[in-house]
Amino acid sequence: MFESLSEKLSGILDALTRRGALTEEDVNAALREVRRALLEADVALDVVRSFIDKVRARAVGAEVIKSVTPGQMVVKIVHDQLVEMLGAEAAPISLDAVPPVAILMVGLQGSGKTTTTAKIAKRLTDRMKRKVLMASLDTRRPAAMEQLAVLGRQVHVDTLPIVPGQSAVQIARRAMEAARLGGYDVVMLDTAGRVTVDEALMLEAAEVKAATEPHEVLLVADSLTGQDAVNTAKAFDARVGLTGIVLTRMDGDGRGGAALSMRAVTGKPIKLAGTGEKVDALEDFHPARVANRILGMGDIVSLVEKAAETIDAEKARRIAEKMRKGAFDLEDMREQLRQMESIGGMKGVLGMLPGIGKMKAQLEAANLDDKVIRRQRAIIDSMTPQERRNPDILKASRKKRIAAGSGTRVEDVNRLLKMHRQMADVMKMMGKGGRGGLGGALGR
Ligand code: GDP
Repeated sequence: MFESLSEKLSGILDALTRRGALTEEDVNAALREVRRALLEADVALDVVRSFIDKVRARAVGAEVIKSVTPGQMVVKIVHDQLVEMLGAEAAPISLDAVPPVAILMVGLQGSGKTTTTAKIAKRLTDRMKRKVLMASLDTRRPAAMEQLAVLGRQVHVDTLPIVPGQSAVQIARRAMEAARLGGYDVVMLDTAGRVTVDEALMLEAAEVKAATEPHEVLLVADSLTGQDAVNTAKAFDARVGLTGIVLTRMDGDGRGGAALSMRAVTGKPIKLAGTGEKVDALEDFHPARVANRILGMGDIVSLVEKAAETIDAEKARRIAEKMRKGAFDLEDMREQLRQMESIGGMKGVLGMLPGIGKMKAQLEAANLDDKVIRRQRAIIDSMTPQERRNPDILKASRKKRIAAGSGTRVEDVNRLLKMHRQMADVMKMMGKGGRGGLGGALGR
């Protein structure tokens, strides 16, 4: 699932991140491609429209266009919006009610409803140590009842004994009663499916719901059926009322549109994803993980997130301002080294900042790896505040003391001072060009 969409989106966004500066038109052009990719993935038109509008509103803001890493900011915005579209938070099955807690399973025939019922029962038994009873309400297809019994034996979950001639509501009541008497925690009710949505099916599900007051009403929908799955969900929700959706066949090579539009169209969370025929092929649906899989740019996203979390914007802005004025002293450099360390060291920073690309070779030549960063901080820490503000006053004797104090050599101290001068120069230059370079990036 999502392969083709993922390939297209990464292509589009990759091209953006490789450009230094972005204009509003660049962003709009990329968003037109994103829109096409989503439509080709069979995402509902309304959902695509609102998605693109939201991304555009944030991405063409002056803040992004002017930032040092506009492409990466756009990636982050697209990612966040994808997560929102998928439902933001994972929505686990809730058992938070007086037992026996009823879970009503509804859906079309062939969607994977019976298999999913057994999968969930197994998971609740194995992982959550609940005592589960399953009951098939499919009075028209004895084979379906037998199928659930077979699955029950396979996953070691009890099934309600089959009593021929009972209606779905009668079986459901009997299941609840048996669960009360037998001390079960959860009752899973597998309703009958139909080939298409029809009134009799809905009515039956609604009656069972009224009789058992289930805590969860889960629609099982086949993700390979795309928009049909979404329409089915809408119909079931309107008629029966859903608490969540399980998307099956996420292991198939569908285009992913159902998964992507389901939440936005129905307002109901996708709680679980079926990923195979085996009884343990069931996964929690984590919007952020799915979005990462689709974009394939998890590194950039987490880096931008981490930077936003750890960087003190106010401090960084002050440093950027000083750089522009050419007043970048060792106090500032120490602060920058500290921030670099907190967002994943040099590799993280260099990858993140095209603005520093020009300096990259220089930095690499200086062998500025993370150990070096720590050493440099130690050197700066050994200086007096006065020396940090004005390193020119450092005499040979003080350099020796500082080297001793920081466990380094005088050459290291000299190298640091040289590097500071180079940084200050480059930054002053970039500052004059109107773009803040490292400072600008950190100052966002
Ligand atoms: P029901 O008619 O809705 O009860 O559907 P079933 O539970 O009988 O499932 C129909 C078929 O789909 C069976 O062969 C299942 O093994 C298969 N199936 C169910 N869920 C999945 C899934 O997530 N992935 C794959 N590949 N097959 C599934």
